[in-house]
Amino acid sequence: MKKMKSENEYHPRAIALLSGGLDSSLAAAVVTRVGIEVIGLHVVHLFGGGHRRAAQVAHTATQLGIPLRTIDRSEQHLAVVRHPRHGYGAGVNPCIDCRIFMLRTAKQVMEAERAQFVITGEVVGQRPMSQHRHALEIVATESGLGDRLLRPLSANLLPDTLPVREGWISRDALYAISGRSRAPQRALAREFGITDYPQPAGGCLLTDKSYAARVRDAFHQRGADAVTAADFILLRYGRQFRIGDNVKVIIGRNEEENEALSRLAAGKIVIDPTAVMGPLALVEGNPDPQQLRIAIALAGRYCDHVDTTPIAFTIFRAGRTETMSVPPLARDDSRIAAWRI
Ligand code: SF4
Repeated sequence: MKKMKSENEYHPRAIALLSGGLDSSLAAAVVTRVGIEVIGLHVVHLFGGGHRRAAQVAHTATQLGIPLRTIDRSEQHLAVVRHPRHGYGAGVNPCIDCRIFMLRTAKQVMEAERAQFVITGEVVGQRPMSQHRHALEIVATESGLGDRLLRPLSANLLPDTLPVREGWISRDALYAISGRSRAPQRALAREFGITDYPQPAGGCLLTDKSYAARVRDAFHQRGADAVTAADFILLRYGRQFRIGDNVKVIIGRNEEENEALSRLAAGKIVIDPTAVMGPLALVEGNPDPQQLRIAIALAGRYCDHVDTTPIAFTIFRAGRTETMSVPPLARDDSRIAAWRI
């Protein structure tokens, strides 16, 4: 009878989750160095740095000489942001659930590519929420990867994994890096000849305190499930003010933001100054006439206009256009700070 090949008789292949940062590049380099075939994987989501990050990841893969798969999981990732089982960090960053999500995606790719294990650049103790030992265990278990998850930078501080037990990679080729210092990674980068890498960013947009305040406000006002991908994108832009339970005003801070607001204006009231220089403003919700006047006056506060004489605005609302002249709010109106999100 023909003997079935055991897994270690195949040429092993690994999927390396690449973030564009140094740690994940090093992790992939460590495994590539021992002759294991590595395929890079970049999982795209809404908070991960967009085209610039994608370009960094592509550069990393080229430097490492490995192929790259890129998968856009933006919509699915939002479900994790809305309802994390393991809670949020200091912002609205669901890091543990996010890691589980990324690794489940990596597992699917591992199976599709007939690879045997997954590599990440996680370092024990480097990030307070997602990289302490217990969190690393949870992530390995709940992703379904278990011992098929290798963290080459900290592997010698962690229990054996399948690649070590099968002899695909020896513990001598792995590291025991821990903690927040970046010195060991910098030394390793020199060893690998990796010279050009971005400084650690310290987390995605979801860790940003101002952005987190806006997400919390939106979840509170509308319920997390009603906040769409377009809403999450709009939360990045402009000065934002909650002037009523169901009314928010968003005012561009520069030309680039004005353009972004005009692209994201579907379903909103648009306020545009007609005779003076000033920002584009959007109103979200259903303002009553008094709230609409306040929104316009607030937009007027940021126009190039020195006194409180009325400013003319064009208002675009549900396919209709009207003009209104409204005095701007005074710059020191105390309500402005109270409304700000
Ligand atoms: S910082 Fe952002 S991308 Fe990184 S694990 Fe946390 S939620 Fe996910």
